[in-house]
Amino acid sequence: MTLDVTDLSKTYASGDEALTGVDLSIEGSETVAMIGPSGAGKSTFVRCINRLTEPTSGTVELDGTELTALGDDELRSARRDIGMIFQEYDLVERLTVMENVLTGRLGYVSTWRAFRRDFPPKDVERAYEILDRVGLDGMEDKRVDELSGGQRQRVGIARAVIQQPKILLVDEPTSSLDPETSNTVMGLLTDIAAERDVPVLINIHEVDLALDYADRVVGLHDGDVVFEGVPADVDDRV
Ligand code: ADP
Ligand code: ADP
Repeated sequence: MTLDVTDLSKTYASGDEALTGVDLSIEGSETVAMIGPSGAGKSTFVRCINRLTEPTSGTVELDGTELTALGDDELRSARRDIGMIFQEYDLVERLTVMENVLTGRLGYVSTWRAFRRDFPPKDVERAYEILDRVGLDGMEDKRVDELSGGQRQRVGIARAVIQQPKILLVDEPTSSLDPETSNTVMGLLTDIAAERDVPVLINIHEVDLALDYADRVVGLHDGDVVFEGVPADVDDRV
């Protein structure tokens, strides 16, 4: 797996220059944490990768496919290879844990339509395995609006992983969690990604968590990369 982002810029209609020519490559199964203060452009960056936000210029390539050049239909199918754990792609409150996880098999675009389809038994079996792996065994019939923040984040991880994505994009996974739960969720996320050999790009404003869990840390400030390195090298710079 290779993600190549080249000279990515985003200026919003409001005139805000959120990204000013960012380059980033991820190869293999690395966990990369993007850190930076609020407003640095982290969320814009991760959203531009799958074009939830349209970049103003620059290119994004996933395994040689230039996502930034795709038409709507092609983009929709390319997004099946991208596991998203995003806050605004939050869980469907009125559905159960199992139903939410199974929507991952179809991508997130057609969540409601998904429930009019039958899922192959193989997918259901895989969903049980993943729920077990994220520590939600026995919870499959609970509605997600009955879950704690940490449990919800586990459902989000399970939903992204069942897609068998080529890459996981994660936007602020711990922002609404207490420190202990944050650690548990980060550990689970990075462990599962390693077990499945999937690279991860995580936006996170908690520097300590980035240093503890990432293979590489990228510092973003005012829409540009200001440092990049392994946690040990970055430690004294932040
Ligand atoms: P785009 O250039 O991607 O079309 P827009 O500037 O039109 O983006 O804004 C998209 C949406 O985001 C609008 O609904 C707008 O109200 C909202 N928005 C505007 N400013 C901000 C901001 N600073 N942070 C988050 N959302 C914002
Ligand atoms: P971070 O995730 O690091 O907090 P963002 O990507 O959310 O940073 O924001 C980067 C900059 O872009 C900020 O100045 C923010 O106000 C602006 N911004 C973000 N989303 C929008 C939007 N939809 N419309 C206009 N400006 C936006």
